[in-house]
Amino acid sequence: MNDARVRLRVGVATERAERDRNEDSVWTQDGVFLVADGMGGHDRGEVASRTAIDILRSLADGAPGLADAQRIVQEAHAAVRGLPKGVGRRPGTTATGVVLTEHDDVPCWLVVNIGDSRTYRMAGGVLEQVTQDHSEVAELVAAGVVAAEDASRHPRRNVVTRVLGGGNREVEPDVWLLPVSPGDRMLVCSDGLTDPLSDARIEAELRAADDPQDAADRLVAAALAAGGTDNVTAVVVDATLTRRSR
Ligand code: MN
Repeated sequence: MNDARVRLRVGVATERAERDRNEDSVWTQDGVFLVADGMGGHDRGEVASRTAIDILRSLADGAPGLADAQRIVQEAHAAVRGLPKGVGRRPGTTATGVVLTEHDDVPCWLVVNIGDSRTYRMAGGVLEQVTQDHSEVAELVAAGVVAAEDASRHPRRNVVTRVLGGGNREVEPDVWLLPVSPGDRMLVCSDGLTDPLSDARIEAELRAADDPQDAADRLVAAALAAGGTDNVTAVVVDATLTRRSR
């Protein structure tokens, strides 16, 4: 029996920036931390991201594993696909984030991703992107056609290849289980943060703020100051491990 108990602190910041609406949706309760970036005409993007979050937040129940995550993502996909199309594009949304869970009595992060929003982990002051973008430019980088350092300026960088809803009948999410390490700082964010800011800059902002709310505020302010025009959302989750009291 493992005696570790995890205590979480969270900060969240979101801004509409220069768009008419904020189509990013966010959820930060019950050990579930999610960001969804909706797309579609009129208010369809907002509805899509909120619909996805409303289903994905049920990952709070029990101690979900990889199969639970796969199942609930399919439910979210079906719900977004069932939304009225309205005028223009079919509504769709990215979704990513972490759920605090347990596997064999070990505290774990369950990480979920569909699309080009991102989940990062900072451990020992070093930032690492956990998720892989489902975007055309990420595929071009993986194929060696585009250099990684040019990806953030590439004209195809915002073309997502997997979404919840949208035109596809099937969705293939990525899911991971990572043991929680003491001092882990998780960042869940939309592309409104990662388009204008390099990973090095994000790491510097995360190191500069001890408090997770300060860190989230700093990141969003930095994205806007760097010229970001898209909706921008940042969730920062800090984990500390303590002994379970008996
Ligand atoms: Mn976006």
